[in-house]
Amino acid sequence: MEDSEWSPYCYSSSFDKDIHIRFFQMMCETLPSDYQGQEINRLTLAYFAISGLDILGALDRVLKMLFLVSVYFLILNNFFSSVFGSFMPIHIGAETDLRFVYCAAAICFMLKNWSGMDREKAKDYILNCQSYDGGFGLVPGSESHGGATYCAVAALKLMGFIEDDLISKSTPSSIINVPLLLEWSLQRQTVDGGIQGRPNKASDTCYAFWVGGVLRILGAHKFLDSGALHGFLLTCQSQYGGCSKFPGKLPDLYHSYYGLSAFNLLEESGLKPLCIDLGISDVVAFGM
Ligand SMILES: [Zn+2]
Repeated sequence: MEDSEWSPYCYSSSFDKDIHIRFFQMMCETLPSDYQGQEINRLTLAYFAISGLDILGALDRVLKMLFLVSVYFLILNNFFSSVFGSFMPIHIGAETDLRFVYCAAAICFMLKNWSGMDREKAKDYILNCQSYDGGFGLVPGSESHGGATYCAVAALKLMGFIEDDLISKSTPSSIINVPLLLEWSLQRQTVDGGIQGRPNKASDTCYAFWVGGVLRILGAHKFLDSGALHGFLLTCQSQYGGCSKFPGKLPDLYHSYYGLSAFNLLEESGLKPLCIDLGISDVVAFGM
């Protein structure tokens, strides 16, 4: 191949399932050295790598690792059952915002045990984070943001305060301002077909899931230009497997997982259905 023909991205006009399986398998077996500084995020990285293979229907590639992780989670389940009750990542000096409210709701939902969480107070906190423009900020009074908006809507859904397909069921008494939220979310699709996290920002692969997931919960994903979004995601698909944040960059594990999840929202063939609220496959979510 001529050097001028070689490119790690924009190499295919279709979703390449096999190359993504090889990418996530490689991430399970040997993380690139760039991740060495992320020691404290090991479990998160394992989640992206293993759940990526799960959505691709290829968990059999990493059976040994799965056994070790399953033992860990047996342990972890007992730990959370006995001490969980905080919405901070650590006990002292930590941030406190919608990300951790969402994590608390997701853990309680998975454990089927809400005794460690005051759902009414959590709901009030989330509602206070909805901004004048309809999106949600990480804390009350802050700028609307795609990730925070996903955390807010998915947490309300997990806690049982809102249902799927909100736009067809929305009433004036709905606890959130659905029309404004819908407008803000749809305005995040940009001219290149991708989705931005905030106004005046470039499209970014991960927001195709964060904002796309919100629109799916609202029942409004049909209003997105899905063909244009699919085209944007393909420009972020790497020859090595995985996805990059922007077209023209090398892939990373975080954007690979959320790129895959975004392809899933667009009902790409060959992928397991996704539980939007938890960001994992439906099979895993409802087998809990
Ligand atoms: Zn991103």
